[in-house]
Amino acid sequence: MRKERIGIFGGTFNPVHSGHVRAAAEVQKRFCLDRVLFIPSYIPPHKTTEEIAPARDRMRMVELALRRRRRLVPSPIEVRAGVTSYSILTLKKIKELHPRAWIFFVLGVDAFLEIETWRQWERVLEQCLFIVMTRPGYRLGAAKKALGKTFRKKILDVRPSSRVRESWFTAFRVFCVPIRALDVSSTDIRRRVRRGESVRESVPPAVERYIKDHRLYLKRRLGKQPAHGH
Ligand code: ATP
Repeated sequence: MRKERIGIFGGTFNPVHSGHVRAAAEVQKRFCLDRVLFIPSYIPPHKTTEEIAPARDRMRMVELALRRRRRLVPSPIEVRAGVTSYSILTLKKIKELHPRAWIFFVLGVDAFLEIETWRQWERVLEQCLFIVMTRPGYRLGAAKKALGKTFRKKILDVRPSSRVRESWFTAFRVFCVPIRALDVSSTDIRRRVRRGESVRESVPPAVERYIKDHRLYLKRRLGKQPAHGH
C-alpha cells in the first residue's frame, strides 16, 4: 500500500500571503503530497503588538487563504497548544497522528539557513524529510552550506524536470526544490498596509478583506518581533 505523504509548513503567517500558497501548492504537486499542513506559530499575547497579529487572526487568515485548496490544510496544532512550540515537538505530535506516513518539513531556503539555531535540530533532521524551496533573494544552493559534512551527503538537488521517486526518501534527507517563487514577504505586506498602499497583488482577496475589516497592521511596530519558536 502507498505510504501517505504529509507536508508540515510552519510559519508566523503574519499574514499568510500568495507566496506561501504558491510555494506549498507547487511542492504538493511535485511530491504528490496528500496534504500540506499550514501551521501558524503561537505567539503569547503579551508579545503581540500592532506588528504581530493575534494568533486567532493569523489562523483565520490561513483558513481564508486555503478555502478552495483541498490539499493545503490549515492546522491549529500550535495555536491551540497555547505555548510557543518547538519544531521537534510539533513533529512528534504530527508523527503520532500519522505514524505510517512520510513526513516532510516544507520551508523556504531562508528559513532552512537558520536550522542550526533550532532546538534539537539534528534530531529534527534525523526524524523527517525536508523540502527546501526557492525564495527570491536567496540562492537555493546555499542550503548545502547550512549543514556540516554528516548531513551534506544527504541533500539532493531536485531538477525541475525529474520525477520524484519514493526510493529517494530513504536515500536522502533534504530535497532542494526549485520553484517559481513569488517575491512576496509578510514584512512587505505589513509595511504596505501601514502606508495605506494596496496589497491586492500579494495576498488572496479574502485575506485582503480580513486585514481591512479587522484593521490589522495599521500602526507602527511597538515591540521587537520575537524569534520563531523553532
Ligand atoms: P516575515 O517577512 O514576517 O519574516 P515571511 O514572509 O518570511 O514573513 P513566514 O511566515 O516567516 O513568512 O514564512 C513561513 C515559511 O514560508 C518559511 O519557511 C519561509 O521561508 C516560507 N516563505 C515565505 N515567503 C515565501 C515565498 N515568497 N516563497 C517561498 N517561500 C516563502
